[in-house]
Amino acid sequence: MEVLDVLKPETLTEVKSLFTEYQNCKILAGGTDLLLDIKNGKQSPQYLIDLGNIKALKKIEKVRKDIVIGSMVSFKTLSEAKIIKQYFNSLYHSAKGMGSPQIRNLATIGGNIINGAPAADITPCLISLDATLVIESAEYERFISCEQYFIDYDKEKVRENEVLTKIIIPKKKRLTGFYKLGKRNSLAIARVNTAISIEVKQNKIKRFAVCLGAVGRYPFRVLELEKMVVGKSLDYLLADEVLEKLENAVFASIKTRKTMPFKKEAIKGVFKKALENAYGEVIL
Ligand SMILES: Cc1cc2nc3c(=O)[nH]c(=O)nc-3n(C[C@H](O)[C@H](O)[C@H](O)COP(=O)(O)OP(=O)(O)OC[C@H]3O[C@@H](n4cnc5c(N)ncnc54)[C@H](O)[C@@H]3O)c2cc1C
Repeated sequence: MEVLDVLKPETLTEVKSLFTEYQNCKILAGGTDLLLDIKNGKQSPQYLIDLGNIKALKKIEKVRKDIVIGSMVSFKTLSEAKIIKQYFNSLYHSAKGMGSPQIRNLATIGGNIINGAPAADITPCLISLDATLVIESAEYERFISCEQYFIDYDKEKVRENEVLTKIIIPKKKRLTGFYKLGKRNSLAIARVNTAISIEVKQNKIKRFAVCLGAVGRYPFRVLELEKMVVGKSLDYLLADEVLEKLENAVFASIKTRKTMPFKKEAIKGVFKKALENAYGEVIL
C-alpha cells in the first residue's frame, strides 16, 4: 500500500483532529526509522502526519522543578542545549554519541522512544532519570513514567490516535552517566548500553538507578542492585558483588541468546565506563 498523502499540521489541535478525520495514519517525526520501515514494507500507513511544523514540540524548557523536552527535539538540539548538559550529563552524552551528524539533525527524542528499539540510546537515560512521558489524544492526556511504558509496553504503547508530546525530567542534583559499546551498524559486535543516576548525601549513596539497554527486548533497571548500594560509599559501586549483580541481570534477561556470554562479560566494562562518564574521570 502506498502513502497517499503527507499531512502537515501547524498545531497540536490540528494533529488531534486529523486523527479523527483520517484512518491508517502514522506520525512522522525525523523519519530516520519510519521512512526505512515504509521502504522495506515493514509498515504501510496510508497517511503520514508530519510534526515538523509544530514549534511547540521543539522546545526545551525549565518548568518549576522539571525540565520539559518537546518530543520533536532533535538529537542535535539535545546535544547542544546548555540546559541538558547542565542537568543531565547522561542524556547529553547519549545524544552527542548517537548516529552521524546527518542522523542527529533529523532524529528526534520522541521518535527514539516510540520506535522502541532494544538498543535505543535515549531510553535507558530517560528511565534512569525518572522521566515521564506525556501522551495526548483528542479526548485525553495521559502521563506515564518511561520505565512503566516499557514494562507494560503492549498495554501502554502509543496508539494510532495518540501523539507523544513531551518528556518531563525532574531537575535533581545527581551524578549521571551513559556509555554504549559498539556501533549500531556494526556486523562484528553486539551492542550494550548503560545509563546511571546517583544521588549522594554526606558521601553516601542516597538513591541509585541503573538501566541496561540492548540486553533484552526493552531497556530495564536492575532493582536488586539499586537497593543493595543505598547507604554505601561511591567506591562500593566497583565491588565484585555489584558487577556480579549486573552479570546476573544480563544472564536472566537473555539466557538463551547467542550473544549472552559476550554481553554478560561486556556489561561490567560498560558499567564502569558509565560511572567514569558520571564522575568525569577515569576510574579503571
Ligand atoms: C544510519 C542510522 C544510524 C542510527 N544510529 C542510532 C544510534 O546510534 N542510536 C540510536 O538510538 N538510534 C539510532 N538510529 C535510529 C533512529 O535514528 C532513532 O530511533 C530516531 O531517534 C528515531 O526518531 P525519528 O524522529 O527519526 O522518528 P521517525 O522515524 O519519524 O518515527 C519513528 C517511530 O516513532 C513514531 N513517532 C515519532 N514521533 C512520535 C510522536 N511524537 N508521537 C507518536 N509517535 C511518534 C513514528 O510514527 C514511528 O513509528 C539510527 C538510524 C540510522 C538510519
